[in-house]
Amino acid sequence: MKGGEFLIKEQEANDVFVPEELSEEQRMFRSMAFEFIESKIWPNIGKIDKQLENPDLVPKFLEEAGALGMLGAGLPEEYGGMGVDFVTETVLSEELGKSLSFGVAVAAHTGIGTLPILYYGTEEQKQKYLPDLSTGKLKASYCLTEPDSGSDALAAKTKAVLDGEEWVLNGQKMWITNAGFADLYIVFAQVDGDKFTGFVVERDTPGLTLGDEEVKLGIKGSSTRQVFFEDVRIPKENLLGEIGKGHRIAFNVLNIGRFKLGAMVMGGSKQAIDIAVKYANERKQFKQPISNFGAIQHKLAEMAIKTYAADSATYRIADLLADKITELKAEGLSKAEAKLKAAEEYNIECAILKVLGSESIDYVVDEAVQIFGGTGYSEEYPVARMYRDARINRIFEGTNEINRMLAVGQMMKKAMKGELDLMTPAMNIQNELMSIPDFGDDDESELLYAEKKAIRNAKKAILMASGAAAQKYMMELENQQEVLMYLADMAIDVFTAESALLRTEKVVGLRGEEASRLQLLMTKVYLSDALERVHMAGKHAIAGFAEGDELRMMLIGMKRFTKYEPMNTIAARKEIAAKMIETNSYPF
Ligand SMILES: Cc1cc2nc3c(=O)[nH]c(=O)nc-3n(C[C@H](O)[C@H](O)[C@H](O)COP(=O)(O)OP(=O)(O)OC[C@H]3O[C@@H](n4cnc5c(N)ncnc54)[C@H](O)[C@@H]3O)c2cc1C
Repeated sequence: MKGGEFLIKEQEANDVFVPEELSEEQRMFRSMAFEFIESKIWPNIGKIDKQLENPDLVPKFLEEAGALGMLGAGLPEEYGGMGVDFVTETVLSEELGKSLSFGVAVAAHTGIGTLPILYYGTEEQKQKYLPDLSTGKLKASYCLTEPDSGSDALAAKTKAVLDGEEWVLNGQKMWITNAGFADLYIVFAQVDGDKFTGFVVERDTPGLTLGDEEVKLGIKGSSTRQVFFEDVRIPKENLLGEIGKGHRIAFNVLNIGRFKLGAMVMGGSKQAIDIAVKYANERKQFKQPISNFGAIQHKLAEMAIKTYAADSATYRIADLLADKITELKAEGLSKAEAKLKAAEEYNIECAILKVLGSESIDYVVDEAVQIFGGTGYSEEYPVARMYRDARINRIFEGTNEINRMLAVGQMMKKAMKGELDLMTPAMNIQNELMSIPDFGDDDESELLYAEKKAIRNAKKAILMASGAAAQKYMMELENQQEVLMYLADMAIDVFTAESALLRTEKVVGLRGEEASRLQLLMTKVYLSDALERVHMAGKHAIAGFAEGDELRMMLIGMKRFTKYEPMNTIAARKEIAAKMIETNSYPF
């Protein structure tokens, strides 16, 4: 399946990878990371957050993680890495999501800090820096944002001028993760005024200075500072990639970054759920555990359902990326080139996962605080920190607004270029709307028949709304942000619900229906709610530009395409929560 093609194609359950299929080796990797986080990070979580008092703690733990292979896991072996497959990298990200600020430091170091060199560095740069980045001897950060250019990153003002054998950098970067202890800064600057270009700058270069640590809402243990460049002279060979091609570096590393952020927040959500269930079982009010109460059971179940869906989407995308990497390597690309190209291919899915995961974790940690009641508001308990720390995920690696626009924008772009045929199915849907509904002669007794049909139809709802919007606005559509946001929300919900469905179908095949009962319930509840959201978003979107008979016809279509038999979601959630209460944890 090509990037974005989920909208017009059906993937077979047998073709998706599900977390239940993780190999023994991948599970061992998970245990290793989890033990490190439990034994090193959690006992020091308060100290890590007081970073001004303990500035050496995060760098020390980074080196310890490096010694275990956690920093170089995804790097090729020739540069000191472990060269693990992409699914194993995903498992590692999931576990790192349980380490709060420390996870942010690792993600910035291994992702946006290291990948620009792996993807775009010269062989000399790779040999010089990657082995030490892999062990954590060198620590990296990524300097894109400036006071006046955040989402509009290419409007950066930092300048680079070639003076003989040296580049001279002048300017200012802001919000730079790991800045306080980094040895290496990936810096973006304009050459000749408008040629956006990447550079590698070493810490001890004269003229490079740091601002104070930012006083932040959350991730207080993550170093975030401004970085100033005043006549910073670096060797000519520290140019990264080509002059004027810095945007490719800046944006392409963000594709993988967004995917990994999605995996991390999913891991963080599972951890918050574990903590919330345990508390709900221990805390007694009205002479009984609060987990006895339906209101609390609803919360627990919903936290788990959202996380199950995000988990399913994460490993579905991880597998698409892994397969693409294998395919491209077989065509002769290096592993680094293959990874870069694979992430570009699935940039729509990566953006979807970033938004989905970061918004799910905010729901989960918010409800965790609520389950804790007053203690949730206390610094003595872990959920207050988790609540604060989760919020940043909707802002960095491209805000969720930018990622929503990116997801829809890329779909439209692929359609225009002829890479994704959205037009034919959109036209077919218009014809279908004018005809009598086709009730089909499929085998309705097939497991998950109604759910698969609902997903097929929900895709039609998106194609109908986006096709009509494209016809109405043509090139102007990119400026209709409200419509784009609704279309993105619809696509996120449908992709996620389909991911949960495919996973569940596969698990039923592996373990049988009875053993998969909880997963079947989760999938159905998620889908049922998702279809209502898709209906509402679709209605708002089309009412924004259509009127009269056209609007009426599309509203009927929207209703038809988001239909699903009403189900007893209260009973389903109760059953899901009962299992969580019994196992005292997230159920999978
Ligand atoms: C803790 C932290 C760590 C960070 N780490 C790094 C790092 O290591 N390296 C780095 O380079 N940067 C880093 N950043 C910066 C981060 O990537 C930016 O904050 C982010 O991209 C948003 O930019 P901004 O803050 O300037 O917000 P703005 O771009 O000013 O956005 C403000 C609001 O306007 C919206 N908006 C902006 N443009 C549009 C548009 N065209 N259409 C619709 N809405 C729009 C945004 O979605 C947002 O809601 C970090 C930030 C924080 C807070």
